[in-house]
Amino acid sequence: MTEQGVALRKALVAATAKTILEHAEELTALDQAIGDGDHGINMKRGFEAVVADLDALAPKPWPDFLKGVGMTLVMKVGGASGPLFGTFFMTLGKELPIGPTADDVIRALRAAIVAVQARGKAEPGHKTLLDVLVPVVEQLEAGNRNLDGMVQKAHEASEATKPLKAIRGRASFLGDRSIGHMDPGARSSALMIAAVADVLKEVA
Ligand code: ADP
Ligand code: MG
Repeated sequence: MTEQGVALRKALVAATAKTILEHAEELTALDQAIGDGDHGINMKRGFEAVVADLDALAPKPWPDFLKGVGMTLVMKVGGASGPLFGTFFMTLGKELPIGPTADDVIRALRAAIVAVQARGKAEPGHKTLLDVLVPVVEQLEAGNRNLDGMVQKAHEASEATKPLKAIRGRASFLGDRSIGHMDPGARSSALMIAAVADVLKEVA
């Protein structure tokens, strides 16, 4: 365990939790339009629990830290998104070595997406959080590792969920009436990606 690693893990959790808490009402409003209006509340509850665990989580090496974050999200977020974001972070933890390189991180991100797809039986284009996660990871895999470019891609991808018709999740019950609204999970994914990028820019 390095002091730097502990500080970085704390900063990543703090920044991610902050943006989720600041945007909880917006996420809830998005979910009111095409779901049941709990996405902001769900995510807030989950990230408050991660913050409450942070002193125990941050000293752990990356794999255990990420597994711990994922397990807390599964237990506390609830809804459809809790198990999916939980699977994402738990798989990252399973796939990463203790001292990950950038290549290791990109490989682990792809494995985490594959696990989320399997869990939710969803594909890109179904108007879910995958519609942000997949294009962002594809851009990284293509060799564009610029952090501002990553944030831009996440933002554009979340906006691009508006014209989609939902095929998975509660929004799919609305059929064509889901068209014209941004997917809540896509928005929360883009917010988390922006928060992570801000922290990484400071250490880069
Ligand atoms: P619930 O839909 O159970 O109320 P949330 O409101 O917390 O759960 O989360 C809704 C979000 O979960 C959606 O906006 C979508 O991004 C994501 N989602 C739902 N079902 C799936 C799925 N099968 N695969 C991927 N993401 C999904
Ligand atoms: Mg909901």
